[in-house]
Amino acid sequence: MSRIPHFALLVVQVFSLFFAPSSDAQRSYDLVILNGRVIDPESKSDSIRNLGITNGTIKTITTNKLSGRTVIDARGLVVSPGFIDLHQHGQNDENYRFKAMDGVTTALELEVGTGDVDSWYAQREQKSLINYGVSAGHIAARMKAMREPAAFLPSGDAARRAATDPEIREMQESLEQGLKRGAIAVGFGIQYTPSASRWEILEMFRVASRFGASCHVHLRHAGMKEPGSSIQALEEVISAAAITGAPLHVVHIQSTGGPATPKLLQMITEAKSRKLDITTECYPYIAGMTDIKSAIFDEGWQEVFGIDYKDLQWAATGERLTKDTFAEYRKTGGMVAVFSMTEEIVTAAIKSPVTMIASDGIMERGKGHPRTAGTYSRVLGNYVREQGALTLMDALAKMTLMPAQRLERRVPSMKNKGRIRVGADADLAIFDPRSIVDKATFQDPAKYAEGVRFVVVNGVLVIKDGQLQSNIYPGRPVRSPIN
Ligand SMILES: [Zn+2]
Repeated sequence: MSRIPHFALLVVQVFSLFFAPSSDAQRSYDLVILNGRVIDPESKSDSIRNLGITNGTIKTITTNKLSGRTVIDARGLVVSPGFIDLHQHGQNDENYRFKAMDGVTTALELEVGTGDVDSWYAQREQKSLINYGVSAGHIAARMKAMREPAAFLPSGDAARRAATDPEIREMQESLEQGLKRGAIAVGFGIQYTPSASRWEILEMFRVASRFGASCHVHLRHAGMKEPGSSIQALEEVISAAAITGAPLHVVHIQSTGGPATPKLLQMITEAKSRKLDITTECYPYIAGMTDIKSAIFDEGWQEVFGIDYKDLQWAATGERLTKDTFAEYRKTGGMVAVFSMTEEIVTAAIKSPVTMIASDGIMERGKGHPRTAGTYSRVLGNYVREQGALTLMDALAKMTLMPAQRLERRVPSMKNKGRIRVGADADLAIFDPRSIVDKATFQDPAKYAEGVRFVVVNGVLVIKDGQLQSNIYPGRPVRSPIN
């Protein structure tokens, strides 16, 4: 090659390096998010970047200029992976709207679960604002095996009668069937089925183990009182995990543990150091909520929780209960808030490196617990910003990466959630870290969180400038592959 053409080629190359459009800018994306503080807990990166999204997938993360059909300016806002709630009972449009306003892009019902996986998913297909998924539930399997009419929680035989061997076998078959149909996990509410023997629980863990499914367990007992403490109850399921090999996830550890919570967290940390696959979750409120008809309020509940009638609040009216109103409502059933925790316990749970954040939310026609609408904004506003109890990076890991990792062995698609990287699903929560705040209270639980400015679900904006968008249903099923 002669000298002059070579030089000319070099000039062209240098010119194109500086003046030609980069490949990012040549392309036009479906959605572009500019100038956001992009935080990814997997890579631990925290920097100002532009995102380009096409076909529901993150295609580029760059400092280059991008163009797209829709462009958002996220200057001053945090761009986080969308929050993944492993514990959301309410699974309809009313609930999904509250979740989205709180930054949640994936809401999973893994504690109670379902007895009919196919119809559960079919009911939500093309009708969901955010991503959804469910476990195969031991409670539902038990109610079916004992011929108790379907309900959210059992109050008859399924709560109070020991199962026969054939009934246990039938429950195992129900769980197997659900797992074969793509249930994400196996759910347990042992405190709601106190007559389920330890052997029965082991038999269910054995099924979960065969499918590589995590067991999401509401422990058999609450509080400190022995025998029958939350410590004993945690020993039961850590043993079950060790014996069977099933991964274990303990739900709402702070509401079950009460004053024993730091001890339970220590036990989980120690068990993890022995290579057991154990995780847990908490929500940022000093009261829980459940059905007053459930076995939790059987004789002796005051001693178990260390509380009295006045510490119960009837969700429908907001009234505190008395001996008389308790007896009256126990007959009819309904949701009741249980004020059994202290702020110290809740803070300890949120700060612990082993906990994820999960809401345990359920809203029915505007009635319920404020955790449904405010869990994530409350952690980010109160515990991160106001109290400095944990860093923003750690808090976001508990809301995104850790729940995704909990499920990804059985549900490989979760490897593309809970992260901001090229190829990941475009599920994003974009919020103002200076103003994000929960507005829902025990008196008025149906208040949207504030400060979440944009939410993206599979590349579609479901919240824009803080406003819920209507008549769009980009939510997709989160489901284990069906063989
Ligand atoms: Zn529970």
